[in-house]
Amino acid sequence: MSEKTELSGKAEGLVGLREEIGDCRRCKLSTTRNTIVFGEGSPEARVMFIGEGPGKDEDIQGRPFVGRAGQLLTAIIEKGMQMRREDVYICNIVKCRPTVDMAFQRDRPPDEEETAACSGFLLRQIEIIKPEVIITLGNPSTRFLLKTKTGITKMRGSWYSFNGIPVMPTYHPSYILRNGGDSSPLKRDVWEDIKKVLAALDSKDSIVFSDESSTGSDSSLRKVFSDEKKQEPEAEVQRKLF
Ligand code: URA
Repeated sequence: MSEKTELSGKAEGLVGLREEIGDCRRCKLSTTRNTIVFGEGSPEARVMFIGEGPGKDEDIQGRPFVGRAGQLLTAIIEKGMQMRREDVYICNIVKCRPTVDMAFQRDRPPDEEETAACSGFLLRQIEIIKPEVIITLGNPSTRFLLKTKTGITKMRGSWYSFNGIPVMPTYHPSYILRNGGDSSPLKRDVWEDIKKVLAALDSKDSIVFSDESSTGSDSSLRKVFSDEKKQEPEAEVQRKLF
């Protein structure tokens, strides 16, 4: 197959998947959503970010990560990773906004039923795009993809594998905003995680499945590598992320 055919194949696959979702009524989130937020970015993306579910702004605009948390994610991509937002792929576990009591006041993570109804589409997005690296943002997507109950604080910063694709869990941007915002010390942690992703993208050979041990209850998890590098000065971190 020529490269051109293969490239358009991914885009076509995503279009077909979106058509399959249609005007989805597979779970109760469909009764309160404004817009289905399928995901966006390059079908050829090397990096895929996975959040939990659309929030208020995303539900209105039909695009993932466009609210406050999205602005921070965009800064991480553009300033930190020096990539264009449109060159990565951004999506969520569920495609419709989960709100507390379905009242459209506060957001919440998707529940089990919603995840079961929708997550197959995320798995298909991964299958179509075949990213070189997946970055899971926060607990829900990390726990879903890696089938773990271990919390993000323990998981972040190490490599795991999902069907052979290296996965780097890191904090969700909303968590950073809730914990110090602009001056949050968690930004430094995210930057450390992102640097590992950048190093892996630079030299795929450096990703070595070096540790077969589990992170507790999950023997299916494999750490790929978790080299601890010296931390950069705070000013450098700020410059790169903001
Ligand atoms: N939080 C998420 O997890 N996803 C979005 O798209 C927006 C906020």
